[in-house]
Amino acid sequence: MNEIFLLKLGEVVLKGTNKRQFENRLRQNIRRRMKAYGNFDVYIMQSTVYVEPMDEEADVDSAWEACKSIFGLVSLCRCRPCEKDLDSIFNAVEEYLGEDLDCAASFKVESKRSDKSFPLNSIQISQEIGGRIAEAHPDCLVDVHHPAYTVYVEVRDFAAYVHGPAEPGAGGLPTGVGGRAMCLLSGGIDSPVAAYMMAKRGVEIECVHFFSYPYTSQLAKDKVMELARLVTKYSGRMTVNIVNFTPIQEAIRDHCAEEFFTLIMRRFMMEISQEIARHDGCGALITGENLGQVASQTMEAMAVTGAVVQMPIFMPLVGMDKEEIVTIARKIGTMDTSILPYEDCCTVFTPKHPKTKPTIGQLLNAEQKLDRKALIAQALETVEKVSVKFDDDPFC
Ligand code: ATP
Ligand code: MG
Repeated sequence: MNEIFLLKLGEVVLKGTNKRQFENRLRQNIRRRMKAYGNFDVYIMQSTVYVEPMDEEADVDSAWEACKSIFGLVSLCRCRPCEKDLDSIFNAVEEYLGEDLDCAASFKVESKRSDKSFPLNSIQISQEIGGRIAEAHPDCLVDVHHPAYTVYVEVRDFAAYVHGPAEPGAGGLPTGVGGRAMCLLSGGIDSPVAAYMMAKRGVEIECVHFFSYPYTSQLAKDKVMELARLVTKYSGRMTVNIVNFTPIQEAIRDHCAEEFFTLIMRRFMMEISQEIARHDGCGALITGENLGQVASQTMEAMAVTGAVVQMPIFMPLVGMDKEEIVTIARKIGTMDTSILPYEDCCTVFTPKHPKTKPTIGQLLNAEQKLDRKALIAQALETVEKVSVKFDDDPFC
């Protein structure tokens, strides 16, 4: 083939004795992702993943785009492989990068030689290839300090590779190496970002969404499913558990003091999420909570909502500014969907004066008239599991 991707491993290379396990997982993730785009061979050598299209039918451009959202990779290079001799390397540069060099005001060549049996060292390779480029492109000046364009030459075990500047990878750790966790997904800006951030740390994501029909509409539920789908671009396929929350919200409305409505509701959400999480082999919960953002996200409020569960609760956004969260939401493509104006069940029956410094004692007292166990068991019976993956785009 005349094109191949070299993907450089990120933190995986630091993982010592677990390195093999991390690499295997990454290779498996990439293989699975490439399947949609044709026949690709995926293998890892010297901390580099090689992704090689095996026939002309392979959709190389789409595969390249997909690689940008795979966690565990720090940089991506789209390369031309060639024989390991100077003539072949120079021909590959001309064919593959000649147009870029024609447009650039200046250039330099950077070479790496991991095959130490190659007769020239990396400086000599750069000098030889740089000299030939300078002759072929007289308008493109050599500038080793601030070049407008850099040509990279890598002489590796089985071939040499030439490429232009690398693109940044998605970073993080390969999805799956960090266990599995249940994200409480609302239709807002924060929780999809929280899911993305934990997926980036290698966590396999499952989601749970609470909806309160008819207080919240079908459109609100569709919006959440679309957010989940957008997150799967990074996390891979996921299951979304949909829980009918109406009876619980009505019971709270009918039997509890208004100032505690949101907190009681959130305690139910946590406990139900933990039940589903345990059943599905998750080791933690994830929320989009952010200190001080709303009344239910003070330190005291977090303490009373967290008190009903034993699993760790990951809140990757807890110390971020809204602006920082929005920047990530835009980068990952969830923002436009998040701001669609459909209501969330958190906005149904919201208290006028929510308690911002609650205590556990107050909550237990406020919940006295509720049969928590029965309400939770009833909600768990309604759970609908939906499998979501990125290609399920209803608009395609
Ligand atoms: P978001 O922007 O994610 O909606 P928010 O700032 O609106 O967050 P809250 O509505 O107080 O905050 O919710 C805090 C967290 O609780 C959310 O980030 C999410 O993890 C979870 N959550 C809220 N509503 C729901 C819901 N309907 N289903 C599942 N989880 C929810
Ligand atoms: Mg919300």
